[in-house]
Amino acid sequence: MSEEREQEEKATCQATTVEGRQCRATPRIGRPYCYFHDPQVAQERTGARREGGLATKAVLRPVPLKVELGSAEACIRTLEEIGALVSEGKLDARRSNALGYLAAQALGAHKMALLEGRIERLESLLSEVKAREA
Ligand SMILES: [Zn+2]
Repeated sequence: MSEEREQEEKATCQATTVEGRQCRATPRIGRPYCYFHDPQVAQERTGARREGGLATKAVLRPVPLKVELGSAEACIRTLEEIGALVSEGKLDARRSNALGYLAAQALGAHKMALLEGRIERLESLLSEVKAREA
């Protein structure tokens, strides 16, 4: 911990500025360069741009996932499958987010329906008890 802090305090960007001096900016965490000099940042920027461009054109490949939302159990199974596919690298973040969102919404709806059923049963029991007392 203390070593890390020491490094953080001392560390400066490894790049040389246009004027030929060493850059004095704080490097990015775990990187030898600051944000402006880190070649990885530039790569990420062009990568992100390219991905964005491709995403709009690319035809999405089907994913080996059976989306079932007909019951709470099915929703949970679907969510589990989504998790497995993501961890195996077979499902991209965008679709996993969309599918995960749908499954979670459906699960919420099933939960609500279940609770409504329970409330209805309790209400009818209550009215029975009240009728008996009267
Ligand atoms: Zn720098």
